[in-house]
Amino acid sequence: MIAPLDSAWAAYSGRTNTIIITPQVLEDIPAAVAVVFVHELRHAAQQVEGMTDCVGREVDSLVWEMRFWDLLTNGGVLKPTTQLQTEENYLLRIALEEGEPGLYKYIVTSPGYQEQCQIDPPY
Ligand SMILES: [Zn+2]
Repeated sequence: MIAPLDSAWAAYSGRTNTIIITPQVLEDIPAAVAVVFVHELRHAAQQVEGMTDCVGREVDSLVWEMRFWDLLTNGGVLKPTTQLQTEENYLLRIALEEGEPGLYKYIVTSPGYQEQCQIDPPY
């Protein structure tokens, strides 16, 4: 379903098995739309697979998201024109340079994910 969200590009509700995607994402380039769906579709698959750890789920979704961003844009878009593309490029840099541990660190230090996964900030 298409709806605006406060602090995310998209979301997955396991309760209703629904992906919510913001209108902003749908206006972006096809590769950006695709990787946002890849991320949320992984959450749907995780539900079936019985993966329950919030941080683990987000890291797994980001790994898949970055695989596709890398593949579809050949290592990231050269000149990002939207905030979403800029963020995807930033995350791809982390994924390529630091791998999963880097993405894990990103999740646990991002205020949005800290709130979503109920992680207490380390300070
Ligand atoms: Zn997610």
